Amino acid sequence: MRAVLLGAPGAGKGTHCKRIAERYGVAHLSSGDILRRERAEGTELGKKAQGYMDAGALVPDDLIVEMMTKAIQQAPTGYVLDGFPRTVNQAEVLDKALVAQKTGIDMVLDLRVSDGVVVERITGRRSCPKCGCVYHVKNMPPKVADVCDRDGTPLVQRPDDTEKVVRNRLETYYRQTEPVVDYYKARRTVHDIEADGDPDTVAAVIFQKLDPLAGKKKSRRGKA
Ligand code: AMP
Repeated sequence: MRAVLLGAPGAGKGTHCKRIAERYGVAHLSSGDILRRERAEGTELGKKAQGYMDAGALVPDDLIVEMMTKAIQQAPTGYVLDGFPRTVNQAEVLDKALVAQKTGIDMVLDLRVSDGVVVERITGRRSCPKCGCVYHVKNMPPKVADVCDRDGTPLVQRPDDTEKVVRNRLETYYRQTEPVVDYYKARRTVHDIEADGDPDTVAAVIFQKLDPLAGKKKSRRGKA
């Protein structure tokens, strides 16, 4: 399975891509996670990406495309793309690269959320710097405030999850990434998924779309 999950920051792409990866045994390729890893490791790419990320701006296309096409080549069982492509140019280059590899995308899903929900979700997001577990101060708090349930590490807020940067990221999304939805809609079916609701309900709708691709039987709660 080769799928793309589109959506604004905070739409739930990370959460749902993780579930998709587990359910169908495919790689979860998150451009944001890969960039954060590169930064943590202090690589050349990480250093180049740093300033853009902290400002809520997009990292230049050439850097991203090289990074993601490499990741795709290393995912033989299939993948779900999270946060990529984020510009029409990235989508075009991805299409060309896939044609050259004689493959293509099987399905594109677009998670639709309102801006108010995005800001609330992102500014309340906290994560564990050690294991990557993600929490929300209101909707999914850890058992002990500000501490990871799994390993006791103090939780942190991503520097680009503050309200000021979130507003910037949303503005960047509308200007540069929403046209990617139209790019795909002009070429194929894009499945709109209402994603304001709770994650289990949204996941069940996503699985209904993807199950036939994986040859899974229909199930109401998405637990085939
Ligand atoms: P994310 O975790 O997907 O919200 O990404 C965090 C940040 O990484 C974004 O605000 C961008 O600065 C950068 N980034 C992630 N994916 C891309 C992409 N496809 N193109 C350009 N920049 C990206």
